[in-house]
Amino acid sequence: MRFDVGEQLREPVGTIHTYNLEERMGLGEGDEFPVAGRLNFIRTSQGLLITADLEATMEASCNRCLDSFTLSVPFHIEEEFFPTSDPWKGGRLETPEDAFTIDAHQVLDLTEALRQYILLQMPMKQLCRPSCLGLCRHCGHNLNLGPHSCPRD
Ligand SMILES: [Zn+2]
Ligand SMILES: [Zn+2]
Repeated sequence: MRFDVGEQLREPVGTIHTYNLEERMGLGEGDEFPVAGRLNFIRTSQGLLITADLEATMEASCNRCLDSFTLSVPFHIEEEFFPTSDPWKGGRLETPEDAFTIDAHQVLDLTEALRQYILLQMPMKQLCRPSCLGLCRHCGHNLNLGPHSCPRD
């Protein structure tokens, strides 16, 4: 998810550009899922502040009934990115430690930031619905599907 921000870095502080994002990405295990929403790039005195309201939509399997379902992970981003080279003269710039950076060609890559924010927002327990009944512990029948006859003990 790369954005050429050279031009925006040469604009006055406070300039805002808005994008509608619709991309696919993964969390590292090769599984891809769509991420969509609105992104704002705001020129700050030192770099670009990215604010965004996004939603990742992924296939998950329920921790209780093991059924697969669509997990929506909404997340909000607010993160400043710092250029590593001067947008006018091209010389190297110092950046704060541990900050997200814009590469020497003024390309801002959002992928790693999105990955980190999504991981933070992933629910610990992934349930197909809050009231999921899970599986019968005697026969493994999916209890969400209704009553069943079970040879209890
Ligand atoms: Zn379930
Ligand atoms: Zn049963």
